[in-house]
Amino acid sequence: MDLFIFLGPAGSGKGTQAQYLISSFNFSHISTGDLLRAEVKSGSEMGKNVQSIITKGDLVPDKIIIAIIKGHLSEVSKDTSIPGIVFDGFPRTIDQAMALDSLIKSMSLNLKALVQFDLSLEDSIIRISGRQVDSRNNKVYHKVFNPAPKDAHPYLVQRDDDSEEKVRYRFEVFQKETAPLILHYRSIIYQIDCSKSIADIHEQMDQLVQSEIALGG
Ligand code: AMP
Repeated sequence: MDLFIFLGPAGSGKGTQAQYLISSFNFSHISTGDLLRAEVKSGSEMGKNVQSIITKGDLVPDKIIIAIIKGHLSEVSKDTSIPGIVFDGFPRTIDQAMALDSLIKSMSLNLKALVQFDLSLEDSIIRISGRQVDSRNNKVYHKVFNPAPKDAHPYLVQRDDDSEEKVRYRFEVFQKETAPLILHYRSIIYQIDCSKSIADIHEQMDQLVQSEIALGG
């Protein structure tokens, strides 16, 4: 099974492009942010432990994240009809990347590319201020750039950590903890210019996935 890691700051369009790969290529999407928010919503012990960390914009401890990923990866990898998985928001630290490296070895997975979504702090703030999430299915929309369909309107919510202040803080955390992963994965980086339209980036994603699948192995 092929893996693609999506790396980029809040608002860079990772979730939107992951949705595209799900609908176009039947990929599976593992978003640690979505999984953590589901834990918070369910009121589980883990959810209670991580809620304040997420709301503040800090990173949840690696141990918790790695356990979540292990569970999901072993579930998803059983489904042989799925050609690939997109990791959205994982790994976010060097320790998470090293844990993923060993999972890849032990589960015979193929890490195809680290897709780097480049976005400035200013653009991250602009994008996040208009972000809306459909609370039924976590689909992400933007008031101006990607409006939600009418039937979703009653279900649209704004995330607790999407205020300008929190976005600034999350951007700092991203630069400090997550940006160093670019060096770790330097041989498989595929860069996306986030100033392009969603449709143009869809096209780039098509090219990437088709060329990687054509390469096989
Ligand atoms: P996201 O939806 O990817 O923006 O994630 C929302 C929040 O969940 C982050 O600000 C972190 O608090 C937490 N989180 C998500 N993924 C991770 C991860 N891989 N490592 C640590 N914390 C994470």
